[in-house]
Amino acid sequence: MIEITLPDGAVKKVSKGTTPMEVAKSISEGLARNVISAKFNDTVVETVTPLTEDGTLTLYTWNDSEGKKAFWHSTSHVVAQALEELYPGIKLTIGPAIENGFYYDVDFGEHTVSEKDFPAIEKKALEIARGKHDYKMRSVSKADALQYYKDQDNEFKIELIENLEDGTITFCDHSTFTDLCRGGHIPNTGIIKAIKILSVAGAYWRGDENNPQLTRVYGISFPKQKELTEYLELLEEAKKRDHRKLGKELELFTFSKKVGQGLPLWLPKGAALRERLEQFLKKAQKKAGYEMVVTPHIGQKELYVTSGHYAKYGEDSFQPIHTPKEDEEFLLKPMNCPHHCEIYNSTPFSYKDLPKRYAEFGTVYRYEQSGELHGLTRVRGFTQDDAHIFCTTEQLNEEFKNVIDLSLYVLNSLGFDNFTAQVSVRDLDNPEKYIGDVSDWEKAEQAIIDAAEEKGLNYVIESGEAAFYGPKLDFMVKDALGRNWQLGTIQVDYNLPKRFDLTYKGSDNELHRPVMIHRAPFGSMERFVALLLEHTGGNFPLWLIPTQAIVLPVSEKHEKYAEKVLNSLENHEIRALIDKRNETVGKKIREAELQKIPFMLIVGEQEEASGTVSVRKHGGEDLGSLSTDAFSDLVSTEINSTLKSF
Ligand SMILES: [Zn+2]
Ligand SMILES: [Zn+2]
Repeated sequence: MIEITLPDGAVKKVSKGTTPMEVAKSISEGLARNVISAKFNDTVVETVTPLTEDGTLTLYTWNDSEGKKAFWHSTSHVVAQALEELYPGIKLTIGPAIENGFYYDVDFGEHTVSEKDFPAIEKKALEIARGKHDYKMRSVSKADALQYYKDQDNEFKIELIENLEDGTITFCDHSTFTDLCRGGHIPNTGIIKAIKILSVAGAYWRGDENNPQLTRVYGISFPKQKELTEYLELLEEAKKRDHRKLGKELELFTFSKKVGQGLPLWLPKGAALRERLEQFLKKAQKKAGYEMVVTPHIGQKELYVTSGHYAKYGEDSFQPIHTPKEDEEFLLKPMNCPHHCEIYNSTPFSYKDLPKRYAEFGTVYRYEQSGELHGLTRVRGFTQDDAHIFCTTEQLNEEFKNVIDLSLYVLNSLGFDNFTAQVSVRDLDNPEKYIGDVSDWEKAEQAIIDAAEEKGLNYVIESGEAAFYGPKLDFMVKDALGRNWQLGTIQVDYNLPKRFDLTYKGSDNELHRPVMIHRAPFGSMERFVALLLEHTGGNFPLWLIPTQAIVLPVSEKHEKYAEKVLNSLENHEIRALIDKRNETVGKKIREAELQKIPFMLIVGEQEEASGTVSVRKHGGEDLGSLSTDAFSDLVSTEINSTLKSF
């Protein structure tokens, strides 16, 4: 008999050789029907793998990300078989699961595959899946494995096998298909009910451009056709909400090849939007006791050697700038923290002066390979809404709670109501990975957990996810399309205070080391605006949107009155425009809709006579005739309902 421990701590005594599926059956038939993959002692196993020793068993269903991974990887085998049948002589390489679906890298030789071929591939793959073939793992000797692929003339698999140790090599069979594979499959192909080939792209073998170019076939699959349909609708919506597309349509930002890749240029409307976001946070930060500081865009190389950033990023980042005469070396600032440490160091502090909270909208530069750049989410220059809090260990819990309050205020004001928190703590089995006193770590981790608890956050604790220099809390925000974004990291740091020899005088008159908190509720202005665009589809909260209202005169005759209306709106601090073009009101409305302007104020004969405006909301709702004062009240009521003061 062996002892199998389940995640809830329950222990099952089963006979040696029992499979995860049999364990599932012994728990409930319902569970057994849904189990598609398993993990035993940190290793992914098949549901039919005999368990031969004591250990911990986790069973996965489609609802677990590990379950999805097995599902998608298993589908990649089926798609590979379909490709082999449709395109004889192709060479298969690797086919892993990814965040959403899977890919298979294939050397198609003479064949070319494009979008028009996708339906045939999907049809063939589904045909195979319907055969309900079991996935069967078997061990092969290195010699046999090599021979198998030599017969197929597949140099890629041969290269993979050559790097494996004899005795560890396994093949996976299903139907008539065999693939070199480590394992991690669902029980059989029949569970796969819907398969979609999403795209093809070029990919170098092993990601090296000196290697042959392969074709990467991307796909996704589901246990129900309905789920595929929903996923495709989501993809369609994501395309419409792509921040790069919306950013252009709403004239927020642009890129210029001349200026350089990954360096966004903010257009007037985008700059105004940023400015409002900054003002919003600055106002809240002021109330929360932060002080603004300003630091330069470059710093001496020494600064980053001291901070440790140079050792970590130096070689792989922008290279130093040299002065013409003094032979000094400067680096583009990759982080604001070292500068803020030196600001702290410029004044001797006593415990009575702490906490010090320095905030800066600091622009930093980090080298990203051109292939990695993506709109505003992966750039080479970006502005962090950065702040560093220097406090005593005793103040940590209070400060942490204050930062949580500020982060929640930001999320609420911007319409993010679906999020969880993740507390990242040490891996207790590997203490050597972390710097600082164990007692400090214990205090800091407890301070964060207490803060999360006291603030009523819905949080999970992740062991081993802390940075080497301190534990942290992240907000995981779900956007309107259900995608997760990590936002608003609050990081405790013991490292920089030590490296910069930061001190304060305690009540005992001795020098002590402060703790440092890094935090940025937005993360960066660039990434945050991208997230906001994709979350709202460009329909920003009213307090933030560039143009809140547009006045649309029915004809030239009413321009004077329209200007009077505009003037009155401006006096009420409403951001409004006037569309004086010689176009029909219908056309003006359509364009204002595209610009996502929340309110259209139509003015003609009647409105002028009664001193009112006809209000039409974005999306078509008719609010009828209102005086400009009544309209202004309506705007401020709506703003006050989302934008509370901090
Ligand atoms: Zn496999
Ligand atoms: Zn920092």
